[in-house]
Amino acid sequence: MTATPYVVRPMVNRDSLFFWDGTRAGELRVQTCNACGAKRFPPGPACQSCDAYDRGYEVASGEGTVFSYVVHRHPPVPGKELPIVIALIDLDEGVRMVGEVVEAVDADGAATIDIGTRLRVDYRRVDDDLTLPIWRKA
Ligand SMILES: [Zn+2]
Repeated sequence: MTATPYVVRPMVNRDSLFFWDGTRAGELRVQTCNACGAKRFPPGPACQSCDAYDRGYEVASGEGTVFSYVVHRHPPVPGKELPIVIALIDLDEGVRMVGEVVEAVDADGAATIDIGTRLRVDYRRVDDDLTLPIWRKA
């Protein structure tokens, strides 16, 4: 798999603003389609199921399961002590998102999570504007 860690500030635009407002409020928000009810991540303007533009969101439970992961050892990531673990997480609500799993490597740098490991979201406040979701073993 390829996954891009949060090496730069995420793009915040009209479609994703609700998500970042959510993390700042301690909520993991998943975009929903008001027309057909489909959930989606990443957020976008139109529903991939029915093409409707009428969108909302729901607050996810913040729990999910590791679908896949990578231990990122190189190249260096500004502000990060490597290795870090980046996972694809299947939320219980049925959407998949990418995130950093903290405290997930042992002293030898091996991952301490596996496919299927249960995770729970947590939040890392970067500054007044940005709070990143991070994940821990549940
Ligand atoms: Zn739809």
